[in-house]
Amino acid sequence: MSNLEKYENLVIGSGGAGKLMAWTMGGAGRRVALVERGALGGACPNVACLPSKNIIHAAKVISLAKRAEFGLKAASMSVDMAAVQRRKRLMVEGLQQMHLDRTTASHADLIRGSARFIAPRTVEIDLNAGGKRTIFGERVFLDLGSRASIPKLPGLAEAHPMTHVEFLDLDRLPEHLIVIGGGYVGLELAQAMRRFGAKVTVIEESPQLAVHEDPDIGAELKNLFADEGIEVLLEARIERVEGQSGNRVRVHMKDPRGERTIEGNDLLVATGRTANTGDIALEVAGVQLDAHGDIKVNDRLATTAENVWAMGDCAGSPHFTHVSENDFKIVYENLRGGNYTTKSRLIPFCMFTDPELARVGMNETEAKRAGIEYRLVQMPYRNILRTRTISEPRGLIKMLIARGSDQILGFTALGVEASELMSAVQTAMAGRLPYTILRDAIFTHPTMSEGLNVLLANVAD
Ligand SMILES: Cc1cc2nc3c(=O)[nH]c(=O)nc-3n(C[C@H](O)[C@H](O)[C@H](O)COP(=O)(O)OP(=O)(O)OC[C@H]3O[C@@H](n4cnc5c(N)ncnc54)[C@H](O)[C@@H]3O)c2cc1C
Repeated sequence: MSNLEKYENLVIGSGGAGKLMAWTMGGAGRRVALVERGALGGACPNVACLPSKNIIHAAKVISLAKRAEFGLKAASMSVDMAAVQRRKRLMVEGLQQMHLDRTTASHADLIRGSARFIAPRTVEIDLNAGGKRTIFGERVFLDLGSRASIPKLPGLAEAHPMTHVEFLDLDRLPEHLIVIGGGYVGLELAQAMRRFGAKVTVIEESPQLAVHEDPDIGAELKNLFADEGIEVLLEARIERVEGQSGNRVRVHMKDPRGERTIEGNDLLVATGRTANTGDIALEVAGVQLDAHGDIKVNDRLATTAENVWAMGDCAGSPHFTHVSENDFKIVYENLRGGNYTTKSRLIPFCMFTDPELARVGMNETEAKRAGIEYRLVQMPYRNILRTRTISEPRGLIKMLIARGSDQILGFTALGVEASELMSAVQTAMAGRLPYTILRDAIFTHPTMSEGLNVLLANVAD
């Protein structure tokens, strides 16, 4: 093997976990190579979390401006999608610079190119600028991420549907957008586009939106979408797709009402993600995959190959940036003699529709499935006085409390600022506080958190 370069630490992929590993190791004076074939920082700052939330915020501003109740008088209002994109692109450029600066400051060697294993812990890198480098890492950290899956449906690939990547770069308004998939990516983007002024249809194969949530939450979400004029088709089986996204598309489908054809102009596919594990020859490195194509790891994120770890989406961890970052922490701290695992992690999540859907811990469906007895407290969001002041009374809150102890098992909020409200509950759960601490705390009036006093005022024994 000619020109083999040796590094103490070889990091492949600069997503949440990879960049933190490179920055932290490099910052501590370790020799690190960070290999990235795409945008530095991975999906989150470039094509996923942050650009989507940027676009969603623009859509929210527009939706508020359109609500006459706030007293804004404007002779005419129209949406300039190019301006919406300008704001997003500026943010992404700023984030890229920030990532570049931090990488430079850490003294990690950034290698822009695509890595492929040619021997254990040894990769050949096809450099983006042309040429090749071959690198051996004493320790190898894989943060390969994932990409949008395109289901194998007749005519779908030929219709060249958008994924979130193309969607988040649209500087025109689709006339009628058809969204395949009623999970968090599909719902966030569907609602934003509706608020910009497009007609939107969401097609979902399950009997409810946000299929991992309780049925009452799914039903409430559907009502919210209906209020905004978004068509939602549930239990829909797509038979074939015709046409070209960006021009004219026809989706032939069956639902409980029978066979129908939905005609639109643009198609967005948001039906889940596939790990980027197929084109890097992991088998050469002795790194095995599980049945889903994710890298097989133990609860300390070690792979089946010695001194090779996998983190983030590619390791089958829940697909969130905060989880990828926590994966880094587990691997890094264990290398320093710590004892961290992925077992029993309390992982919160938020779907950034407006209002938001946030959850930490179990919901009712999961508790029932696990045979865990619980006490349920729930209330409509409008019981929180703060919601009256901002005209955002929609949604509901649910908390599960253990039977036989006052431990909080889970919390779900569908309503405005749900993510922040959830974080207050999460803090109590992380500290193993009984629910009574939240019930008896004096929260500021009028805030959303004050709603916890109301929610917990009368918990049955
Ligand atoms: C539209 C959308 C919105 C989202 N919103 C949120 C949100 O609000 N909050 C949240 O927590 N999560 C959100 N997510 C999920 C989140 O973006 C991902 O879970 C997260 O980015 C995964 O990070 P990662 O570190 O696993 O990998 P990634 O960020 O995907 O990084 C992996 C990197 O590895 C590189 N790579 C792969 N293979 C190679 C190779 N062979 N050689 C060199 N480089 C390689 C890739 O180019 C990529 O840059 C969203 C996802 C989408 C699609």
